[in-house]
Amino acid sequence: MTDCIFCKIIAGDLPATKVIEDEQTLAFMDINPGSHGHALVIPKAHSKDLTAIGPDDLAACLSTAQELARRAMENLGADGVNLINCCGAAAWQTVFHFHLHVVPRYADGPHRDGLQLPWVPAPGDPGEIADAARALSNGD
Ligand code: AMP
Ligand code: ZN
Repeated sequence: MTDCIFCKIIAGDLPATKVIEDEQTLAFMDINPGSHGHALVIPKAHSKDLTAIGPDDLAACLSTAQELARRAMENLGADGVNLINCCGAAAWQTVFHFHLHVVPRYADGPHRDGLQLPWVPAPGDPGEIADAARALSNGD
């Protein structure tokens, strides 16, 4: 994809601060970090989003993200990690090359983050939950 910035990073046409690279994936630092050590994992083969990526590339990205999460906790002293994927503009996706955000979390200390859940947990309407479950289960 010639107009994709993440494909350009893979091709070496745009700079990136790389942290892990293997045959199928690349992990590099996000230039607008939400927390100390926020990195992105991408497949080397272009897929626009979660609905388009193949199971092999998805599994490879998850495995790289797991390694990054371990390093965030062991090497950066993170207390936890959020793994985030934005699929579609309505879900905050801005770069249409599949990526996982690996966001280290810090409960306190110099890197304490003020990140919040993006929804307010509250009991849902049981009928609506059941309707959605029926639609999502495809009759299974
Ligand atoms: P999303 O909103 O989930 O599509 O996330 C795209 C992410 O890519 C954002 O967090 C951006 O900060 C990040 N980003 C965009 N361009 C670059 C770049 N050239 N190098 C590193 N991160 C980037
Ligand atoms: Zn791409």
